[in-house]
Amino acid sequence: MAIDPWETAQGQLELASKRLSLDAFLHARLSQPDRIVEVSLPVTMDDGSVRVFSGFRVQHNNIRGPYKGGLRYHPDVDMSEVKALSFWMTMKNALIDVPFGGGKGGVAVDPKKLSASELERLTREFARKLYPVIGPTTDVPAPDVNTNGQIMMWIRDEYEKIAGKQSPAVVTGKSLDNGGSEGRTEATGLGGSFALEALMQLKGESLKGKTVAIQGFGNVGSYFAEYAIELGCKVVAVSDSKGTLYMNQGIKDIKAIEKHKKATRSLEGFPGAEYLDPSAVMLLDVDILVPAALENSITIDNVNDIRATTIVEMANGPTTPEADAILNEKGIMVIPDILANSGGVAVSYFEWFQNMNDENWGKDDVFSKLKAKMTAAAEATFASAVKNSCSLREAAYMVSISRLADK
Ligand code: GLU
Repeated sequence: MAIDPWETAQGQLELASKRLSLDAFLHARLSQPDRIVEVSLPVTMDDGSVRVFSGFRVQHNNIRGPYKGGLRYHPDVDMSEVKALSFWMTMKNALIDVPFGGGKGGVAVDPKKLSASELERLTREFARKLYPVIGPTTDVPAPDVNTNGQIMMWIRDEYEKIAGKQSPAVVTGKSLDNGGSEGRTEATGLGGSFALEALMQLKGESLKGKTVAIQGFGNVGSYFAEYAIELGCKVVAVSDSKGTLYMNQGIKDIKAIEKHKKATRSLEGFPGAEYLDPSAVMLLDVDILVPAALENSITIDNVNDIRATTIVEMANGPTTPEADAILNEKGIMVIPDILANSGGVAVSYFEWFQNMNDENWGKDDVFSKLKAKMTAAAEATFASAVKNSCSLREAAYMVSISRLADK
């Protein structure tokens, strides 16, 4: 049976609200998004035919500042998913303590099946349709699954044409030569490694020699892998939707795997590695499992076969509530998505701030500010978990919701 991400999000809100005896008005506000936008996007294809795509933007909540969150291009994008993702952005932005609310959007499309010019026409049409509801102080989109700096540039350009003025802060995750920030590309993966490092330190555990398997080899998974190796971990597997690359002796050179994947469009055939099926990555005998792909990858069907003792949720919503309860019972530490992957939006905030103030920060500066934010969020979450004797996920929600209540 399909698992509805919006139901998952609602369940998480209910749990934390009960523990906090949350005020009825705030509870009602968080239970539904402020605004839902659905647009149709007619696009002339290269062969002259016309296709109409569905685009979404959900503005969940702006108590703490402008709506903020990514745009996803994926065939499975639908309203329920985007609503859940927008709720998670509200929670994430409060936890990482940036002055943003939560929003999310996307287009139901497989961008790999479009030419570059079709992708550009689709994106520009999406930007024109979103124009009335986005802006530097109202709602600020960013990249997410299958979107990137190039797509942000088209949105910025289209927005500025209509607005008739420069507005670099209308989107974040832009490329460096187009108003982006140093360190934004690495931010989510690096932030996750900082969160993991901080929590291991709080637990008095070392990361040296810990084995790691990573599901997903996009921007997030690949940078997380690199930084985990820098922390002394032994990354033994990375996977994509087609297969798992496994190297018992530990992967040394992530960039070489990226090159191989770019050239062959596959993880298969990398010298010295075994190639397993895509589901194998979840069940390997490792210390740390890192879901860095899509929702619902840890479910009732595979949770009992997971052997890792720590899970770092670099994807949004990778664990279903049923599976989460089992992980908790077993004492497996789950670093929840709203903490683990919040480094991306943290550096989006730095980018937005630089744009608004006409500043340019160096990479070292961005990275040390990111580390400070991730460490503070990890410490607040850990302290709340100890105080309330609950999981890190519930603890993180309690920190976020309390901050929303304080506004
Ligand atoms: N898409 C990323 C996320 O899920 C980043 C959002 C942003 O930078 O606004 O957190």
